[in-house]
Amino acid sequence: MADALRAEAVGDDVTFVVNRNINFTDVCINTCLFCAFANREGYLSSVEDVAEEARCAARDGATEVCIQGGLHPDLFLEYYVAIVRAVRKAAPNIHIHAFSPQEVVHAARQTGEDVEAVLKELQRAGLGSMPGTAAEVLVDYVRKEVCPEKLGTAEWLNVVRSAHEQGIPTTCTMLYGIGEGWDERLEHLYLLRDLQEETGGFTEFVPLSFISPNTPLFRERGIKSPGTAADLLMVAAARLVLHPLIPNIQVSWVKLGRGTAAKALDWGGNDLGGTLGAENITRLAGGRNGQAMSAESLAALAREAGRRPIRRDTLYRHLSVVESSS
Ligand code: SF4
Repeated sequence: MADALRAEAVGDDVTFVVNRNINFTDVCINTCLFCAFANREGYLSSVEDVAEEARCAARDGATEVCIQGGLHPDLFLEYYVAIVRAVRKAAPNIHIHAFSPQEVVHAARQTGEDVEAVLKELQRAGLGSMPGTAAEVLVDYVRKEVCPEKLGTAEWLNVVRSAHEQGIPTTCTMLYGIGEGWDERLEHLYLLRDLQEETGGFTEFVPLSFISPNTPLFRERGIKSPGTAADLLMVAAARLVLHPLIPNIQVSWVKLGRGTAAKALDWGGNDLGGTLGAENITRLAGGRNGQAMSAESLAALAREAGRRPIRRDTLYRHLSVVESSS
């Protein structure tokens, strides 16, 4: 049924974006149990370094930079705005997809501003859209167990609603397999569906499978990655609940690997995310699917699944059909 709804929503096109991930710091005041990224090396990139990476990404053909980092205690709104301005200057045409709702709240708290003012300031500087990460599972008793310092469900929804109201689209995500059950997963999907009905600001839903090996959640509580069957069911459940309000269900090749990602295209998925260029968060958690995938490999993956590969921009406008080179 999920596959039929996928065909109804988007046909046989499988999309992806050529992008570059930039994680500007791994220093973080939070201690989320599913995270193996925070505080590994304690680095903080300069604004110039981030801009230079964006310039290189644009030179290499990327249309998007995805910029996120830990919650550094010494960073204020000024730094976030400076990053957006510098990237805009270094790569004028690149789409800036940056800062999770948690980072927006961090910038607001650090600076004593409200969320709306922070969003306005970022938008003025050139922010194009935001990743809807930090959602994890949008049920407060689950969050209390695994990411107690993180913003709560209502706060996440409010930041995203404010972004949409200001004309900043966002993705939406779920990190599943962190101790929740299907009741909580469905509650999360229903909240996203309702918000989409209200604002129409979500571009896609991205189910993110928990990668366990190097995380405290595995070491301390023995919680392991969900596995292929649960991964495929999650994609299907998302399609069933979110159809037709959110037409794009993204399959994360970096979490699932090439094989499961290809299968997931038959379970309701229609988008392969980005080429990424430099993925760190999943790799440090113990992911083994690599840090980057070329546009050709993603296109080949789509073709192997019997679909038409389309290069898109961040907002799902089709840029080109990717023809086979052989
Ligand atoms: S998930 Fe994000 S907020 Fe939580 S510890 Fe890791 S970097 Fe910090």
